[in-house]
Amino acid sequence: MTDSVVCGLIGTGIGPSLTPPMHEAEGTRQGLAYSYQVIDLDEHGLTVADLPRLVRGARDLGFRGLNITHPGKQAVIECLDELTPDAARLGAVNTVLFDEGRSIGHNTDWTGFGRNFDRGLPGARIERVVQLGAGGAGAAVAYAMLTRETRNLVLVDHDRRRAERLAESLAAPFPATRLEVADLAELAVTLADADGLVHATPMGMAEHPGSAVPTALLRPDLWVAEVVYRPLDTELLRAARAVGARTLGGGGMAVYQAVDAFRIFTGIEPDADRMYAHLTELVRREELEVVR
Ligand code: NAD
Repeated sequence: MTDSVVCGLIGTGIGPSLTPPMHEAEGTRQGLAYSYQVIDLDEHGLTVADLPRLVRGARDLGFRGLNITHPGKQAVIECLDELTPDAARLGAVNTVLFDEGRSIGHNTDWTGFGRNFDRGLPGARIERVVQLGAGGAGAAVAYAMLTRETRNLVLVDHDRRRAERLAESLAAPFPATRLEVADLAELAVTLADADGLVHATPMGMAEHPGSAVPTALLRPDLWVAEVVYRPLDTELLRAARAVGARTLGGGGMAVYQAVDAFRIFTGIEPDADRMYAHLTELVRREELEVVR
């Protein structure tokens, strides 16, 4: 009999998410009857206050697990029986596994960025890294860089308080790292002796066109890692390639967070290359529809 897996995604504005088709296609190819439900809080008139009820309901209905996205990644923690040590340190959960009645919170945003980084920028120097953007994605990405032994991480955000709060939250789990906060106006000086730049703001997305980093600050020996993946190729990535810098697109993070969640839900190692090819096809199709 075909093994049946039901899981889902809870968040707001998630109708266009590409995670459900990635999971379902890979599940089918792995021989599973795999159903991935989208539970959009706004569409049901719900808020994060309803998360305990939704998480309990999913468990009782036999869901294998849930992905949680904005605005529930912190609020969901209260509803869970257990957290992995990394999810606890990060203070954010994007994947919940139901295991023998218990709910266990994981975070595959940081593992997803990290695996994509190791695959896409092997051997890159990461001693001193500048990160632009200290929101939800920024927290996961910073955590991934610090677990890779970045010794000096400089956080820059046009909302300086957000950068300061992220630096404060990372100081305890990574006492050996020098965590700094810099202003956008100091970006030129901050980047001058950096090994790499991680971009984690929404700039470059279809609805926020442009680049948060002036092209004049890019150079061949400064690698650039992007989190934006819609589009897959951003203005920042193009500008960095044009000066001869090594670059890493955000598509891989989106794929590997799903790869890691799929393994947590099913115990099966999915085919990451196949999922990457599928994501690329989905984003390109979406881009063609926008052009039409
Ligand atoms: P967020 O709103 O939580 O955080 C964005 C941060 O960027 C905020 O702190 C904001 O103050 C800052 N910011 C915005 N514009 C800026 C600018 N020009 N200069 C400096 N700082 C600026 O958003 P988020 O959830 O962290 O998402 C950020 C981006 O990451 C989005 O494009 C999202 O699609 C993408 N993302 C990608 C993945 C992936 O898997 N590749 C996963 C999550 C998010």
